[in-house]
Amino acid sequence: TFKAIRIDKADKGTTAALTQFDEAELMEGDVTVRVEWSTLNYKDGLAVTGKAPVVRRFPMIAGVDFAGTVEQSSHPQWKPGDKVICNGWGLGETHLGAYAEKARVKGDWLVRLPEGMSTRDAMAIGTAGYTAMLAVLALEKHGVMPNNGPVVVTGAAGGVGSVALAVLSKLGYHAIASTGRMSETPYLKGLGATEVIDRNELSGPAKPLARERWAGGIDSVGSTTLANVLSMTKYAGAVAACGLAAGMDLPSSVAPFILRGVCLLGIDSVMCPIELRKTAWQRLVSDLDRTKLAEITHEIGLDQVIDAGAKILAGQVRGRIVVKIL
Ligand code: NAP
Repeated sequence: TFKAIRIDKADKGTTAALTQFDEAELMEGDVTVRVEWSTLNYKDGLAVTGKAPVVRRFPMIAGVDFAGTVEQSSHPQWKPGDKVICNGWGLGETHLGAYAEKARVKGDWLVRLPEGMSTRDAMAIGTAGYTAMLAVLALEKHGVMPNNGPVVVTGAAGGVGSVALAVLSKLGYHAIASTGRMSETPYLKGLGATEVIDRNELSGPAKPLARERWAGGIDSVGSTTLANVLSMTKYAGAVAACGLAAGMDLPSSVAPFILRGVCLLGIDSVMCPIELRKTAWQRLVSDLDRTKLAEITHEIGLDQVIDAGAKILAGQVRGRIVVKIL
C-alpha cells in the first residue's frame, strides 16, 4: 500500500481523506512512477471539496498533475530512473491521480523533465503555470507581440495569473494585472506587472465595445470579466480564455469579433497534444525567471491538501502551491 488522497462517493456528494491505497487497485498503464511532487490547482480544489463534479470514477485519487521518477516501464520511450512530468489526460478525474506516492499511467502521456528543471520546479509551475505558458504561446501565434500594446492578465494573483505575469514581463510585454486583492500590488509588481487594476473595473455587465485598452489578454476568470476584456481589446487583438474562476458563462456580444477583428483563443491543458506540451515546458525553462518562481511558490504536505483545496476555491491562495509527496 501507499499514501494517497482518496475520493469516495457518499450519500450526498463525495468524501476526501488521506489514507492508504492498495497498489493492486492502480489502473492500467505501461509506466509506474514514484511521485515526488504534485501541486494544487483550482480544479484540485473542486475535486477535494466536491464543489463540482470533477471526479467521474470512484474510488479516485485526486490530483491532476505530478512530477517524479519512473519505477517500472514497458513503454519503449521510458526506463526506470527517467524523470517525468504528467498533467491532465483525465488524471484525478477519470484516471487515478497525483496525490499519491505512486501513479500508473500511459507512457504516451508523459513529458520528459526538461534539462535544468527539478521535479519540484516542474510542480511549482504545475498545470496552472503550464496553462499560462500555453496562453502566451497562443497570443504569440496570433501575432500579439510586446510592441503591439499591453496584455491584461485577470485573476492575476492566482496560479495561472502569477506565472503569466512573470513570463510576459520576461518577454518584454507591458503586463496589466487585474486583481481583487489590491493589497497584493507589491507582489504583482514584483512579478513584473507594469500596472495593477482593480478587478471591479472588469466585473460589471460589459458593453458591446468599450475604449480599446490592450492588444491581448490572458483570462482565468470567465463570465462578465472575459466579456469586458474582449470589449476593451484593440483592433485585431486576441484574448486567451483559460478559466472560469467567476463563472462558466460569457455574457458578451459579437461586436468585438465583427467590428474589431478580435479573436478569442481557447486554451485547454488537459487534452493538449504532446508536441505542444513539450514546447510549453521547454519555453518555461527559458522564459520563467526561477527567482520569481520561488517567490510565487508555497510548499505544503499531502496532509494539508484538503484544507488548501477549500482556500483556493475561496480565492485565498496567492501564486502556486507545491505539494511534497516523498
Ligand atoms: P487560482 O490560483 O485560484 O486563481 C484564480 C484567481 O482568479 C484568484 O486568485 C483570483 O485572483 C481570481 N478570482 C477568484 N474568484 C474570482 C471571482 N469570483 N471573480 C473574479 N476573480 C476571481 O486558480 P488557478 O489554478 O490559477 O486557475 C485559474 C482558473 O483557470 C480556474 O478557473 C481553473 O479552473 C482554470 N484553469 C484552466 C485550465 C485549462 O486547461 N483551461 C488549466 C488550469 C487552470 P485575484 O485575487 O488576483 O483577483
